[in-house]
Amino acid sequence: MEKIRVVVWNEHIQDKNQADVLEVYPDGMNAALKKGITEGNDLFEVTEATQDMPEHGLTEEVLNNTDVLIWWAHCGHEGVSDEVVARVIRHVQAGMGFIALHSAHYSKPFTRLLGTTGRLIWRESGDTEVLWNVNPFHPITKGIGEKFILPAEETYGEFFDVPKPDDNIFIGWFSGGEVFRSGLTFTRGLGKIFYFQPGHETNPTFYNKDYLTVVKNAIQWANPGREKVFLGAPWVPKTIEDNK
Ligand code: ZN
Repeated sequence: MEKIRVVVWNEHIQDKNQADVLEVYPDGMNAALKKGITEGNDLFEVTEATQDMPEHGLTEEVLNNTDVLIWWAHCGHEGVSDEVVARVIRHVQAGMGFIALHSAHYSKPFTRLLGTTGRLIWRESGDTEVLWNVNPFHPITKGIGEKFILPAEETYGEFFDVPKPDDNIFIGWFSGGEVFRSGLTFTRGLGKIFYFQPGHETNPTFYNKDYLTVVKNAIQWANPGREKVFLGAPWVPKTIEDNK
């Protein structure tokens, strides 16, 4: 079976210069996630890309060879080039899978693909999170029981400003009382999108077995499994007359 070509994209800012993040992810969050999704299986060919690379590591050539793009970002959203974002969106609309993790809810590709602000409420309190599986027959929850628990995560809460999703996969409950739509799927053009809420930079979430199971499932679900199709508009009739 052909391997799914995955790019793990990380802004790589706090995990380069912030002590409490480096303590959890000494080699960077991208390296930790790559290790977590590739260990013990032969399903994926994973490349890492970071914001400080030329064109953020997402050249046309890289994206031409990408089936699924994973995006983690937090404080560098505004520094991401509009040209690269437009390129990412074009590839998603042509079929590339897109997985937005945690604070990527405010990233340019996510908000521009969805057309909403991505606004939510948040607290850094080290709450325990219970992720309830509300879609037990969805491919993304394969191997996950009725729930899984993260001992500490940043609390996110509603209202989460996203369009109505195709599917709700997880509801997150936090010990401080908030609830959140923690796993959501969308389609844009031919591309499948999964938003997954956990993954705060000072929590060891990228090492959690259940979390990694979900990400690995999501990659397989979002994989287009065929060549991308860049849809233009020439088939759209110019006038009603043309359509007769
Ligand atoms: Zn966070």
